[in-house]
Amino acid sequence: MQSAALADNRRMPSSRPDPRACPCGSGATHAACCGPLLAGSAVADSAEQLMRSRYSAYVHGARDYLLATWHPSTRPARLDLDERVRWLGLSVKRHEQAGPDAAVVEFVARHRIGGGSAARLHEASRFVREGGRWYYLDGDFRD
Ligand SMILES: [Zn+2]
Repeated sequence: MQSAALADNRRMPSSRPDPRACPCGSGATHAACCGPLLAGSAVADSAEQLMRSRYSAYVHGARDYLLATWHPSTRPARLDLDERVRWLGLSVKRHEQAGPDAAVVEFVARHRIGGGSAARLHEASRFVREGGRWYYLDGDFRD
């Protein structure tokens, strides 16, 4: 009994991903993770949480959320999301507090454009906190 149950657990993530799972890869459900942030009913309490929610926003095409969490000094006037991009997964490498209201989050986001091969976006993003809210400032590509 026990070994069969363990085998089932191991098979779950790859063959049958839970549709309720949060795209950011936290292991929590979307409703308990990035969902409330994207819906505007909660505010990220760390730069990493904001970064994760912005990844989920890219997955969901939540353009308004991306603009709202972008610092006004670097926010683009408009944001065009490439509909051919499919986001495949997020891995947060580093979350470093750079001051009381500044942080760096380094991550790798895997994606695929159309029928192309999977690619990695490796970025160190800078975040600032103003008025109790974290904002994405800018980022440096690492690869
Ligand atoms: Zn999430």
